[in-house]
Amino acid sequence: MNFKRLLVCAVWSLAGLAFSTESLGGTLNYRWRNPEALDYAINGLAPGSSENQPQIVTEDGKTLDVAPESYRIFSVLFGNSDGMNTVKELVGEKNVPDITLRVSESTNDPHSWSTGTTIQIYSQDDFRALGAILHEAAHSFMKAYYGGLPTDGMALEQKYGPDGEHYADEITTPETAFVEAFAEYVADSIAGVDASSKLIRYSQLRKETATSTKGNPDWNWKNFGDCTAEELWRSEAVNALILRDMAIYVSQGKTKLLDVIRTGGRADNLKEFIQKWVVAHPEDTATIIAIVDANTNYTMTDQELRDLFGFTPPYLDLLKSVTNILRTVFGWVPGMSDVVARLDNLIQFLKQGWETRLQALDAYLANRQNNISNFKGQDVNKIDQTLESLLGKSNAGPNVPSSTSGQSSGGTGQSSGSSGQASGTTGQPSSGQSAGTSGQSSTGGIVLPPNTPSPDQPTDPGSGGRVSTPKKYERNRQYIDKSK
Ligand SMILES: [Zn+2]
Repeated sequence: MNFKRLLVCAVWSLAGLAFSTESLGGTLNYRWRNPEALDYAINGLAPGSSENQPQIVTEDGKTLDVAPESYRIFSVLFGNSDGMNTVKELVGEKNVPDITLRVSESTNDPHSWSTGTTIQIYSQDDFRALGAILHEAAHSFMKAYYGGLPTDGMALEQKYGPDGEHYADEITTPETAFVEAFAEYVADSIAGVDASSKLIRYSQLRKETATSTKGNPDWNWKNFGDCTAEELWRSEAVNALILRDMAIYVSQGKTKLLDVIRTGGRADNLKEFIQKWVVAHPEDTATIIAIVDANTNYTMTDQELRDLFGFTPPYLDLLKSVTNILRTVFGWVPGMSDVVARLDNLIQFLKQGWETRLQALDAYLANRQNNISNFKGQDVNKIDQTLESLLGKSNAGPNVPSSTSGQSSGGTGQSSGSSGQASGTTGQPSSGQSAGTSGQSSTGGIVLPPNTPSPDQPTDPGSGGRVSTPKKYERNRQYIDKSK
């Protein structure tokens, strides 16, 4: 444990904005690549251009004829202010690198791919452009604030299994699931993204088999209702839906979600992220427990919920010791009483928050059996109704995407979570919280394969494009992240 770091963290938490630095974020650049592999910086669409012969304007004022698909990509991006403002907000943050979006008509490279900072959309993948850029901007944002992605340093096979690819309905690792879930949540939160960027609930999840290989991937399918808690926490779809539900039902959830990434410190998986959230906003605990329990299909044990939500505030004892040393040994230092007072406030905040969390936990657990008998194991699509009945359908507020995915009712929940009387603060807080260490970053990004199935015609990726039954595959999102 590094005292200096602890102190900095503590004072930082207290002082909040006082310590924040100027935003030195990146910018968003557009480029167009023609079949001859010439690259142009793009300023906008040409006035008067028509569908018959659409044109774009380059940075140096030239107008160029482009394919209708390319034109569509630029017009979606230039035309979706919610989406592009979100991209600009994410990319414009401190230390987020520039993002270049390249629309390519090049037949030499007829693929969509991303390194995180350079995103190429093949013109015929036009429908995916907005979702893809939001997804990548979210990765860049997380990477900037965490000093690298939680999956950095993991081999491709470790991240995604033997085939080196991943799907929204795949069970991978807690780190992979969290990284992808955040990006998928961001894309889902914007109206106007294509259906393949919308979150859905999968009735079956896939797990790679021991014999799966890169060229010959193979999965076992498991019904959602048969998955263990541990498996569900390794599902990016489940992680993403938990994030989405937190954004929807927690008061100011959408804003808090980004803020916890900005100021909460690095989290390597969704559980750690949730712990950072409830430390910063203990009043949200009841709502978040209900969301987590429903989304993991009531598969966690009571003790696991206690470990997740009732943990000792990070560094509380250490913070108390440091504060006492500062008070008794360095009390004579000018300005020290101010620092000590701030630390005392922080200790108080952490202790009260802990108490609030434990009360919410006890209240929830006292009533949990009812939820289990009423809701566990139901059709996965009923989870939204479950949450609505537990947390209340709430009016849509400014912090909620104007049209989230079809299955969500939208609305900022102002919910008190479960009812019930807290029996007191008797919890046995157990697990501590890891501060996480920063890894070395390598770029991760999505690769959108050519000939991606249309979202309304899901295909079995392992069967050469035959249309599969929706029941089994529902919709496959063929985001394939590769480190470049
Ligand atoms: Zn991704």
